[in-house]
Amino acid sequence: MRQPWSGQLAVFAASAMAIGSFAFASAVLGQAPLAATDIGKAVQVQPELAFDRNHDFVTWQQKLRGRLRSILAIPNDWEPDVRWSATRDSDNERYTTDRIEFVAEPGEVVPGYLLRPKGVKPPLPVMICLQGHSPGMHISIGRGKTPGEIASIKGGRDIAIQAVARGWAALAIEQRAFGERAVPGISCNDVALRELLKGRPLTGQRVFDVMRAVDFIATQPDLDGKRIGCMGNSAGGTVSFYAACVDERTQLAVVSCSFGTFEATWLYRKHCACGYLPGLLKVADMPDLAGLVAPRHLILVAGKKDHIARFDGVQKGYGTARRAFEQAGCPNHVVLLAAEGGHQFYPDLAWPVIQRSLNK
Ligand SMILES: [Zn+2]
Repeated sequence: MRQPWSGQLAVFAASAMAIGSFAFASAVLGQAPLAATDIGKAVQVQPELAFDRNHDFVTWQQKLRGRLRSILAIPNDWEPDVRWSATRDSDNERYTTDRIEFVAEPGEVVPGYLLRPKGVKPPLPVMICLQGHSPGMHISIGRGKTPGEIASIKGGRDIAIQAVARGWAALAIEQRAFGERAVPGISCNDVALRELLKGRPLTGQRVFDVMRAVDFIATQPDLDGKRIGCMGNSAGGTVSFYAACVDERTQLAVVSCSFGTFEATWLYRKHCACGYLPGLLKVADMPDLAGLVAPRHLILVAGKKDHIARFDGVQKGYGTARRAFEQAGCPNHVVLLAAEGGHQFYPDLAWPVIQRSLNK
């Protein structure tokens, strides 16, 4: 049901740029560059809380994190207890797979798969695995249902299988308005517009689900709450990034083909509305926000031919992120990995670095 850009959405995007909003991309929707005049307007925005090495770093982080949580409309408090259930889905010689569900908030049940490797001594590090604009979370566990889905997995999208093969427990969850949580007959773009009207950006709701996934992990005695990562490509990377920015329980974010200056990403190509966060660029550019992850770990994966996240903007953004991590005293905790290809994940490039970060 995903629709190419409509005139209505184009108007929405132009308005969003005018007020300094941003979005993250849909690989499906983002094709045509925006007009140069619009890009010119975008780069004139001066973020209020841009990284500045003259500011006290921790004070700046606290202020910026609070503003980002507010823009994401993350609830101020919630009951950390989480209602959940699990049933055995399958068992092979390398790992077990459980079908799980947990309640993120009233009316929002998050389905997922929890994979546990065999032969690894608990407590296990856990990777929360997020798809972007894909058929759904079953792609993360390598279960393509059609020839097209099977082909898409070859772009490094079976991230939960990659994780469990390397000794991680993998928690693949379905994001709101995607896959099993798609609203019948309504695209994620239209869901996002409706949720914006209600004051809760869809990306903020997805980030909250990741925070509740961390609460769910705490209910599992064999999982290590001190080694939790979150990863995804495209919109999955975007949610991983913001989740790590606002929730310090996440020790690692692997952000693939979804990081860069807003000028070279969200404002460069037309995107699905489901990643828009109103007013964020007035507060900070995406590379400024990277400083919120320090001193934890941030691994940025990019494709030099990515048609959505322009590589010069990735490099510029990494420069800003690197300066912030330097000020935090951990310059090596942010890494940029660049492949020669396009908008996909690059497992062979990323996993050796992921393994060095948390799974020591
Ligand atoms: Zn979308």
